[in-house]
Amino acid sequence: MAQERTLSIIKPDATARNITGKIIDKFESAGLRIVASKRVQWTEAQAQKFYEVHKERPFYNDLVAFMTSAPIVLQVLEGEDAVAKNREIMGATNPEEAAPGTIRKEFAENIERNSVHGSDSAENAEIEIGLCFEAGEIVG
Ligand code: ADP
Ligand code: MG
Repeated sequence: MAQERTLSIIKPDATARNITGKIIDKFESAGLRIVASKRVQWTEAQAQKFYEVHKERPFYNDLVAFMTSAPIVLQVLEGEDAVAKNREIMGATNPEEAAPGTIRKEFAENIERNSVHGSDSAENAEIEIGLCFEAGEIVG
């Protein structure tokens, strides 16, 4: 499997609890490299656009409110099989179903406030990275 890039977001529940370093350590310890990183606070329009695929889901409005409620950390992670590897490090969406040692098992508060986002395919990773970073902000 070739080198790949994926988008990671450390969500408001985690920045609020000052645990970004603990989360970043999970990525680096698993061999993923952070090739872009910035802390921002999204506007409603930015969150709506990012989560547009979920706009028909019942949790969409709550998710947009949550993702704009505090700063987030946007990161591009690079490594072998990075999309799948990041999803493995994150654990299941619902922390009650997440495997031991995963970010969501250790840190998530509930199914919404689940500490991290990760792209779910190489195709979506490219789209999401393009939404969040200029090419010059990514330095491998
Ligand atoms: P994942 O982040 O694991 O890819 P989804 O893409 O299905 O999960 O959902 C996007 C985000 O929406 C989740 O990470 C979570 O913050 C929120 N979410 C998903 N399902 C629910 C739900 N049933 N109730 C509340 N929030 C949810
Ligand atoms: Mg998803």
